[in-house]
Amino acid sequence: MFIKEMEFVNFKSFGKRVKIPFYEGFTAISGPNGSGKSNIIDGILFTLGLSGSKTMRAEKLTDLIFNDAKSKQPEFAQVTITFDNTDRKAPVEADEFEISRKIKQTKSGYYSYYYFNGKAASLTEVHELLSKAGITPEGYNVVMQGDISQITAKMSPTERRKIIDEIAGVSEFDEKKQKSLAE
Ligand code: ATP
Ligand code: MG
Repeated sequence: MFIKEMEFVNFKSFGKRVKIPFYEGFTAISGPNGSGKSNIIDGILFTLGLSGSKTMRAEKLTDLIFNDAKSKQPEFAQVTITFDNTDRKAPVEADEFEISRKIKQTKSGYYSYYYFNGKAASLTEVHELLSKAGITPEGYNVVMQGDISQITAKMSPTERRKIIDEIAGVSEFDEKKQKSLAE
């Protein structure tokens, strides 16, 4: 499974509609400072509900909506990720599927919506689908700036062991074991 395409509408520095294609295997994104490379990663975290706004480098979710000093801020931002699923790693009987998230700003606050193949879905449903393909908010699918030095230099051996258990998929069973022992 891999990301085939991302579509940004009014997300961070991507005003209007921008489509970015991706390919199987290794992809590097290059560009001048401030050109929006990290904003693409923020788009992945945002769409898949993998983190809070702080890790996406925004004080509040509505800061993720495109804003230039010149024009009125749009009232929504949306990012759509198309996954290639020809290997059927995700439990979807199709060669591709789409996950999308939209935030909408209104006078009374903001609203967040998730979609699976264009239909409204809950964050839990999105997470359940992704976890079958090994993508979880606790996982290390996205390695952020500073994570490596945190892991190699600042963590205790026990904390480091926890990460290895998480990646190897052992911790899921540890949690289940603890739960059943408690019952
Ligand atoms: P570097 O090479 O320095 O890491 P980068 O390519 O990763 O740069 P990003 O951090 O992705 O760059 O992009 C930062 C740019 O995004 C800044 O110019 C910032 O003004 C812009 N930006 C962030 N949020 C918004 C927003 N809501 N509306 C418009 N522009 C935004
Ligand atoms: Mg960057």
